[in-house]
Amino acid sequence: MRTRLSICARKRRFGSQDAALAAALAGSVPLRFYRCDRCGQYHLTSRTKGKRVLPAPGMDDQPT
Ligand SMILES: [Zn+2]
Repeated sequence: MRTRLSICARKRRFGSQDAALAAALAGSVPLRFYRCDRCGQYHLTSRTKGKRVLPAPGMDDQPT
């Protein structure tokens, strides 16, 4: 699924995966980052939808 340009335009951009990851971890809610195919940089999203991008140790693949 492609990122919509309107979404891209209003989101924060991170020039590197490391920067996006740091920002995601700094948030108070679980965030994940993705590479945007519009601008080629990274954005954060709060839509985790049960996908654990950053699984906690020992908690991989456990149904919730
Ligand atoms: Zn973008």
